[in-house]
Amino acid sequence: MTSVTKRTSPNVIVDRDKCIGCDICVQVCPMGILAMDKEKKAYMKYNECWYCLPCEVDCPVDAITVEIPYLVR
Ligand code: SF4
Ligand code: SF4
Repeated sequence: MTSVTKRTSPNVIVDRDKCIGCDICVQVCPMGILAMDKEKKAYMKYNECWYCLPCEVDCPVDAITVEIPYLVR
């Protein structure tokens, strides 16, 4: 029997040490799921990522990693 594993970790991962708080990822995300926290670091506010990747591509310091689930690759 196959088991179903529910993903609990966010699939858009922000390296807080690298993030310079430029807000670009927040602006380019068509889903509006990214936001800035009180420390001016980006984070995934809503878990509705479409894996379109402009956030990862446009981040000037490569702070974003989008984990694409195996089934949508
Ligand atoms: S991959 Fe697309 S939908 Fe997901 S956070 Fe980045 S810009 Fe937004
Ligand atoms: S684009 Fe990169 S550096 Fe800018 S706020 Fe987003 S994660 Fe941080």
